[in-house]
Amino acid sequence: MADPEASNQSGGYDVEQFVDTPDYDLICTICQGVLKCPVRAACHHIFCKKCILQWLKRQETCPCCRKSVNPSLIFVMFKLSKSIGRMKVKCKNEIRGCSETFSLSEQYCHSMTCMYELIPCPYQGCRVQLLRRDLDTHARHCEHWRQPCHMGCGTILSHRTQAKHNCYKQLRQEYEARHRNHRAIATALQRGR
Ligand SMILES: [Zn+2]
Ligand SMILES: [Zn+2]
Ligand SMILES: [Zn+2]
Ligand SMILES: [Zn+2]
Ligand SMILES: [Zn+2]
Repeated sequence: MADPEASNQSGGYDVEQFVDTPDYDLICTICQGVLKCPVRAACHHIFCKKCILQWLKRQETCPCCRKSVNPSLIFVMFKLSKSIGRMKVKCKNEIRGCSETFSLSEQYCHSMTCMYELIPCPYQGCRVQLLRRDLDTHARHCEHWRQPCHMGCGTILSHRTQAKHNCYKQLRQEYEARHRNHRAIATALQRGR
């Protein structure tokens, strides 16, 4: 019986992600994806860890050769896992315009900086989802944009209040600058006498 939840959770990496078609022996026979955290059973068949553990909950035989499998005798293949991690993949945002490729192990780091990643607007209360590269443009109009006054007066400004903000810190700074200027003129005049 098909178990939609199990197929959603199943382990492997989507074959389509890879720049070069992955070798047949890197494909998990349970999920048909590229092995994620590969483990080897006593019969020497290899599966994603998640896939085989889920399989063994229902029957304790290898899905390839039907030999019985002892769940405590499956071993993670670290070397294989590492070499799969070095395989080149395309960005999952390729359809949105990202043309970058990188090794599988760098995928997470890339998604944190990918300009074509769909992210929620970071300003509280805003429900807009946008591409990371559009964030600056959006922030200029976002109703929920908030930023403390750059003068450090402690006021939190929105786009609406920013234009009207009469900052006491700024006024004081201007006043002090003018004052210094007047003093300088006065000193100069005194010296000139
Ligand atoms: Zn799998
Ligand atoms: Zn087997
Ligand atoms: Zn990308
Ligand atoms: Zn926003
Ligand atoms: Zn201010």
